[in-house]
Amino acid sequence: MIYWGDKGKSEDRAMDDERVRILIIEDDTRFAQSMASLLCNAGWSAETCLTGVAGLGRLATEPYDLVLVDINLPDMSGHEVVRVVRERGENLPVIVVSGETQIDAAIQALRLGAADFVRKPIEPDFLLHRIRGVLRQRWLEREYKSFQHLVNQSERLHRFLVDNSPDIIFTLDEDNRITFINDRVQESLGIARQDLLGRPMVDLVYADDRERARYVLRERQNENQPPQTVELRLTSSQDSKGYRIFQTYFSSITEANCSSLHPPQPWETEGSCCYGVARDITDQREATQWATYHVNHDALTGLPNRQLFRDRLGLAITQAMRNRERFAVIHLNMDRFSAINSLYGHARADEVLRQISERIQRCLRGGDTLARLAADEFLLLNLPIRSEDDVQAVLERIAQELAEPFMIDDTPLKLTASAGVALYPEHGDSPEALIRHANIALYHGRRAGGGSHAFFQEAMRADADQRLHIEHQLQRAIELKQFELHFQPQVDIANRRIRGVEALLRWNHPERGLLSPNEFIGVAEETGLIVPLSKWVLDESCRLLRQWIDLGIAPPRVGINLSPRCLDLPTFVDCFMSSLDQHGVPAERIEVEITENLFIHDPAMAVSKLRDLTIRGVRIAIDDFGTQYSSLGYLQKFPIHTLKIDKSFVWEIDRDVSQHTIIKAIISIGHGLGLNLIAEGVETEAQLRFLREQGCSEIQGFLISRPLPGRKLEQWLARGAHPPTLNA
Ligand code: C2E
Ligand code: MG
Ligand code: MG
Repeated sequence: MIYWGDKGKSEDRAMDDERVRILIIEDDTRFAQSMASLLCNAGWSAETCLTGVAGLGRLATEPYDLVLVDINLPDMSGHEVVRVVRERGENLPVIVVSGETQIDAAIQALRLGAADFVRKPIEPDFLLHRIRGVLRQRWLEREYKSFQHLVNQSERLHRFLVDNSPDIIFTLDEDNRITFINDRVQESLGIARQDLLGRPMVDLVYADDRERARYVLRERQNENQPPQTVELRLTSSQDSKGYRIFQTYFSSITEANCSSLHPPQPWETEGSCCYGVARDITDQREATQWATYHVNHDALTGLPNRQLFRDRLGLAITQAMRNRERFAVIHLNMDRFSAINSLYGHARADEVLRQISERIQRCLRGGDTLARLAADEFLLLNLPIRSEDDVQAVLERIAQELAEPFMIDDTPLKLTASAGVALYPEHGDSPEALIRHANIALYHGRRAGGGSHAFFQEAMRADADQRLHIEHQLQRAIELKQFELHFQPQVDIANRRIRGVEALLRWNHPERGLLSPNEFIGVAEETGLIVPLSKWVLDESCRLLRQWIDLGIAPPRVGINLSPRCLDLPTFVDCFMSSLDQHGVPAERIEVEITENLFIHDPAMAVSKLRDLTIRGVRIAIDDFGTQYSSLGYLQKFPIHTLKIDKSFVWEIDRDVSQHTIIKAIISIGHGLGLNLIAEGVETEAQLRFLREQGCSEIQGFLISRPLPGRKLEQWLARGAHPPTLNA
């Protein structure tokens, strides 16, 4: 802001200021001196020169505020001095003093740029008055210049601030046409400001927001309308979406808030004009949208997550209730997907999951929702349906889509999904109930093996509760080490010697006593608790075997049952071997018992890990041989040492003669492959006789001994006792 101060005082100060220097160029020495003393008396400093050349020389080197020059000098005219001073471009006032009476001389002097003309003889007061006048003029010019400079600077500053504002700043006339807009518009919207002047403001607004913009602009024309802030999308060629989002502020320009505008702007007289600021909030909005999206979606597949699924399910229930419709909630789970993680790594497994989600989505209708819960689990909201057949049809479509092998590094991979279905309204009328019941049904679906499904039934719930109960208890039991191992001898039929023992897990339940594995192994397998449990079994078996070796009573080998889930661990083989090393147990004395279903889903992975074990010396036995999916092919893929004939065949020996052919065939396969054969579950003398006749090498069963606690077995081994039946 420019401060004018007190005008009168400033002028006096300037003219009384001793720093005012006046040069008198006058060849009449006396006259020059008397003028000089007059000026000095007036408070100024005055110097004299007798010739034009001397005067101009002095002016070229010294600063003066005023020149008094005689028109007739010996070397040149006063006019000439005025011309030279003007030509030098200095803004130095020159007063021409002359005895000339002709008006021409005065006019010419003034034309040449003299500040004033004073005639001789000089009247002192008149001269002083004229000098003051000229000095005041000069002072005013200087002040004006510096004011002008300040104004320019201030204008440049405001211009700079406006043009470099991060916001778009604009003014509108009463018809809401743009009268001013700053440079920011070019950068934000890709439109030159000149092209916008005179155009309606709504032209800038993105089509979908125009109606709202018109409303706001109409409103703001009402008198006394307070400033408004609205969020508007403005069309932008700078953004791939075609718009950017702005928080736009509109304020009417009133007399009160524009009185400082100088010079007056057209809107001051033309009524309801407006000033506005549009702030680009696109990035903030997008960041918020991104965050909201990620709170509700799964990052890997982009599918809704559990939270969003729950919300949509809530809406579906409300709608279905109103329209009396039925719909299904389907819980899908990929069978044995964890093996893909451990075999191929997370990056490739994630890629497969993305493909799975895409394939499932292809089977859905517009209103259906597919959500990813975790890992390989999906929830599907299938609406509306007429009957269970509609759900069956969707599940079949999904099964077909998944049937096409997935490729991982040129390896085709076959995957199946199991499903559990809960229907609205019969299986629940809240999101929680439907999701939970679909999950319970899934558990039953999976029991039937891979690629199957089940619809929820009330009876499943009690079973699920029991399972959940066991799961919690199992977890605690592992922490509290409530387990123990029993060992069942395996003896040689021919020489009656003990060949090995099988380690069998028991849960020493605080309330229910000793529980057999059949009561909890299933839950342990499903929940993955089998992995820490198996680790304990291996460690404990190795510890006892080492103890028996040190006592010199050890059986030649210990059989350990291996869960398929253990093989899913990427570090399985190393962990297994390090347990043996830790207890100093030779690998040859451990026989791992596996069942054939270990090979169903991922034979390649199972074969490779088991081969690794055999290379390190561990023996492999096929347990419950003949009861499950059988492929003799894998028997040749790595060295198997033992076939264990399942007890169901052994028990048939007494009852059904037709079964003899099966057991005979199994024994001959074993012989053909050069394998050790152990018959399990031998309970009677007749079974023993038959097996001996057929050339079976070993037996295991209650006839010899029930599984014994470690201490009991130890006593038994220490006595070197033979089972009574064999002694007979
Ligand atoms: P399996 O490996 O086939 O074990 C043999 C089962 O048959 C044992 O049942 C054993 O007590 C029983 N058995 C042996 N001889 C006779 C007999 O003469 N008559 C009758 N009726 N049964 C006999 P158990 O101990 O209840 O184990 C059941 C299954 O649990 C085992 O079958 C095995 O698959 C699993 N299991 C046991 N311990 C473990 C373990 O540590 N890890 C894993 N993953 N599974 C285990
Ligand atoms: Mg076994
Ligand atoms: Mg068995």
